[in-house]
Amino acid sequence: MNSNNLVACPLDCYDTCQAYVDENENVKPSKEHQVTNKKLCVNFAQLLKEDFLKTAYFQNKEISLDESLNILVEKLQNTNPDETLFYKGAGNLGVMQNSTKTFFAQYGSTLTKGSLCDAIGSLGIEQGRGGINVNPPLNNLLNSDVIISWGRNFAVTSSHMYDLVKDKTFITIDPVKTKTAKKSQLHLQINPKTDHELALLLTRFAHMEDLEDEEFIKEHSGADWFFDLAKSKPVITYEKNTGIDLKDITKLFELIKGKSVSILLGLGVQRYYEGAQITRAIDSFAAFIGVHNKKAGGVWYLSDSSYGYEKQLVSNAKNKIPLPTVDFSKYKLVFIQGTNPVVTAPNTQKVIDGLKNSFVIFFGTVLNETSKYADLIIPSSSFLTKKDLRLSYGHELKAVSNYTKPKDENTITEYELANLLNDKFGFEKLKSENEILDYYKNTEVEDKSYIEEFEFIEELEVDNLYEKKEENQLYFLTAKAKNNLNSQFKVDNYLYVNPSLGFNDEDEVLLKSKYGQTKIKIKNSSDIKENCVLTYSGNKYANYVTPFLCDEEADSAIYQEVLITLELS
Ligand code: SF4
Repeated sequence: MNSNNLVACPLDCYDTCQAYVDENENVKPSKEHQVTNKKLCVNFAQLLKEDFLKTAYFQNKEISLDESLNILVEKLQNTNPDETLFYKGAGNLGVMQNSTKTFFAQYGSTLTKGSLCDAIGSLGIEQGRGGINVNPPLNNLLNSDVIISWGRNFAVTSSHMYDLVKDKTFITIDPVKTKTAKKSQLHLQINPKTDHELALLLTRFAHMEDLEDEEFIKEHSGADWFFDLAKSKPVITYEKNTGIDLKDITKLFELIKGKSVSILLGLGVQRYYEGAQITRAIDSFAAFIGVHNKKAGGVWYLSDSSYGYEKQLVSNAKNKIPLPTVDFSKYKLVFIQGTNPVVTAPNTQKVIDGLKNSFVIFFGTVLNETSKYADLIIPSSSFLTKKDLRLSYGHELKAVSNYTKPKDENTITEYELANLLNDKFGFEKLKSENEILDYYKNTEVEDKSYIEEFEFIEELEVDNLYEKKEENQLYFLTAKAKNNLNSQFKVDNYLYVNPSLGFNDEDEVLLKSKYGQTKIKIKNSSDIKENCVLTYSGNKYANYVTPFLCDEEADSAIYQEVLITLELS
């Protein structure tokens, strides 16, 4: 493998795999990349077969790329920048994807802030750790004895990382009996939005078991208050609220006592209004038992992958609005890059109504539910035809795309589009592509995972969903796809329910929340907790019922802060 034939997997995934192109033009998994470890997943294979968009459209009629770019330029010239919105997804995580954002910021468009994904949890971790959210080195995971997969279907969403450690002792904490739970020695099937209470209960037990990390506690502030917080409710109340039997808590401590522990924290725990507090409570429990700053173990969340790098593509926007509550109808022109808000953003109906009210430009590699509402569609070049580099939020390794095959002449890369627009509007050209990529390739970032500053969470103000829940209501869970990370390629539009609810497979039900309603078909699964229902990522009905709201601090989506009812329709 030479450095000129490398290809980075562009998909939004913890593993960030590295591939290369062999002498026969076949894409193969890297042997040197520790996580890829000679394997690529089914998603990547699908991506290679994908029929990428090669035609531009204006009002549903095929046009040439040049014509589409002329329309774009003319539209931008004739619209007040204050009335335009730039909306970008995270489907392709290459650093060069941000090129276009720099143009739109300079032009004066409104940009978005916050996230539909991980920002709430990141904030919780940063609040406890002096503003830094960096995962421990991969070797800490490899060296640990026990892995707690907390709200994360690790075996599926990080299949390569899982492969490296699959023979270790696993404990899963999740309302769903996931594939990871089935492979675990212990599964705590927790009630949704009670993870902070479980963290406090575990802290109580840790104290009884004499498992405090005295040294870490002495060196950092707030452990006394945190322990007082843990004692603020009787153990039996935690048992009732979390739905976890105390016998299982005892088992958990039998498994972790005297062992080095890794906690792999997923997105599920933080999709709530107070998600940052919940994540921070879990991180405080981890600190209490001495998971941090050891040679083995640690807490892994979605790391700030660009921490320590100087941003090479800077966009200083005049105005930014929270991503989950974008009202598309407020903008005369909306530029959507590489994403599908009709399916992925909260409150689908509001998104559709908004898009119908604006001039929508869709820039992407594949058509989707959102492109149906676009007036202008511009095809973006596929990942095999452009150079890029990916930083990982799952581990510390980078993946590089140096190899490029000739791109389709009807497509344009993000970098090319940004420079074309910069030229038309008299803005400065971006640094050369090679200069940007070389910076990321050649910069070795110092490991910042050692936690210098830590502050235990001292109070929790969480509005509990279980206190609001009425008898006929159920918790609504959203998860990454069942058998692979996302569902870009095979969408599952079912609502999964426990058979005890009495529905038959394929029954059509009215799924209702205070935010909206939709008809949806049922699939039974005893893996789902009796008081929950579940949809997988990409389900086009799910977001009809999710809150068009942000969390309390991170401008981020709170998909699970909702209770639903079901009726046969
Ligand atoms: S595991 Fe993730 S990063 Fe690796 S090939 Fe599959 S989608 Fe890409």
